[in-house]
Amino acid sequence: TDTVLDVRDLRVAFGDVEPVRGISFRLRRGERLGLVGESGSGKSLTALAIMRLARRAQLSGEVLLEGEDLLTLKPRQMEKVRGGRVAMVYQDPMSALNPVYTVGKQLEEAIRLHRRLDRRAARERAIELLDDVGVPHPQRRVEQYPHEFSGGMRQRVMIAMAMCADPTVLICDEPTTALDVTTQARIMDLLDRLVEEHHTAVVLITHDLGVAAGFCDNVQVMYGGRIVERAEAEALYRASLHPYSEALLGAAVDLNLELGVPIPTIGGSPPLAGSLPSGCSFHPRCAWAQDRCRTEVPLLREVAGRLVECHRADERAAAVKEETHVGA
Ligand code: SF4
Ligand code: MG
Repeated sequence: TDTVLDVRDLRVAFGDVEPVRGISFRLRRGERLGLVGESGSGKSLTALAIMRLARRAQLSGEVLLEGEDLLTLKPRQMEKVRGGRVAMVYQDPMSALNPVYTVGKQLEEAIRLHRRLDRRAARERAIELLDDVGVPHPQRRVEQYPHEFSGGMRQRVMIAMAMCADPTVLICDEPTTALDVTTQARIMDLLDRLVEEHHTAVVLITHDLGVAAGFCDNVQVMYGGRIVERAEAEALYRASLHPYSEALLGAAVDLNLELGVPIPTIGGSPPLAGSLPSGCSFHPRCAWAQDRCRTEVPLLREVAGRLVECHRADERAAAVKEETHVGA
């Protein structure tokens, strides 16, 4: 089949605390999947676990990359996969770039890890890559250090580095969060073009459901270490079935109104992995909560063509349908 990444019941634990609690999803070749939630929802940790970069964590489940379970690979085998078949772009490129080496040198190293090229050929490839990600004057820029680049240009360098081995799966963790609104849009356009050209599957991690809906084919909303809703991106953006997704959508709208100033509009804060509320972990913040929500844990199930983890998903699906009819 066309599945490139198959995550099965992935759990990430630190002793008794389990910030990622059994999540499963599949990614097809070239598919773009959004992983959306507030900070602390477990989305970044999911990415780090897939990359085997979650330090001191106990991982369980399976992470099948083209059928091969990454969780069983030896560290040296995993090093080949990382930056090769699976690459990652981080929120803060400064943390991923080495400040003491030139950008060209770092790109060359990344290229030579996965391709047999001599220094000269690797340098030429580095210049091509910088050009391809829209860094002006790449011949001159390869000689410069990361601090000589603006935030947006550094992120372009990171993207060039991540794409240099033509990965099967690209994981982007809040790739534009540290950037101004105009630069954000340009970086998303760049990603859009590159992954389209290379037919790269993407996991886009973001707190912004609007960004995910605009870029992705499918979106998964995470809360308290679980996937609470998974749907086709446009459908989710039009109407969410999980009350948490709905709250996130409200936050996205306010965010736009305030021109990028993040104003949290969901009452309360996300639960700490060590002290999850009983029943549905969203219940203390949920406008739809009923008695059983405090005691019964909802399970992810199919409702109206999506996956939703909420006791009241059917009622909400009926309500959404009604609204649609009234509107039509
Ligand atoms: Fe809200 Fe209950 Fe659904 Fe949880 S299960 S999201 S508390 S309605
Ligand atoms: Mg994060």
